[in-house]
Amino acid sequence: MRFFLSGPSGVGKSTIIRAILAAHADIRLSISYTTRTPRPGEQDGREYFFISREVFEERVASKCFLEWASVHDHLYGTSLDWVVSMEKLGYHILFDIDVQGVRQAQAQNSPGAYIMLLPPDIATLERRLKGRGTEDSLSLATRLENAKKEMRAWTLYDYLVVNDRLETAIADVESIISAERLRRRAVEGRLTWLSEIG
Ligand code: 5GP
Repeated sequence: MRFFLSGPSGVGKSTIIRAILAAHADIRLSISYTTRTPRPGEQDGREYFFISREVFEERVASKCFLEWASVHDHLYGTSLDWVVSMEKLGYHILFDIDVQGVRQAQAQNSPGAYIMLLPPDIATLERRLKGRGTEDSLSLATRLENAKKEMRAWTLYDYLVVNDRLETAIADVESIISAERLRRRAVEGRLTWLSEIG
């Protein structure tokens, strides 16, 4: 199963992802390739595979990416090989990708649950973005505008999860995972006898 998770910065996406991964040994976070430089504490091959723009462009040309996008002037891409090899090992994959990536995944009919995380309202998002301080060089107004641009694509998603209280938002994502595990196509493979009853 594939879980695609998007949301504007400041919505609490990383915290929710950490909680989901800690609770599910069979779900792996897709490790993307990126041209941005590592932040303090980030390790190559853990948060991202950090590569040059030149190498990235070569990989685009040789169709190595399931999807790729330019976000805040950096390139990010999902490795098709990595995803397929993890799925062969029996893992489900959680993708932390932006709206441009979701559009491409959907254009390829990539099956999965498409989830967007939203703040309870714009004022709350603004407050949270302010609280993030000077983590990046963009002004608050630009970050807020980028966030609105991302959220305007809400109609692309199957599920909208509002992060008002963190525990509730995590429980909501857990419910989606439980429901997806009960989809017919997810269950039928395990119940081989179903095809034997005629
Ligand atoms: P950050 O640089 O803060 O780690 O990520 C910035 C944004 O890039 C996030 O919104 C994240 O969802 C998006 N992103 C990270 N990896 C990928 C990817 O492989 N593909 C796409 N389309 N977006 C990504």
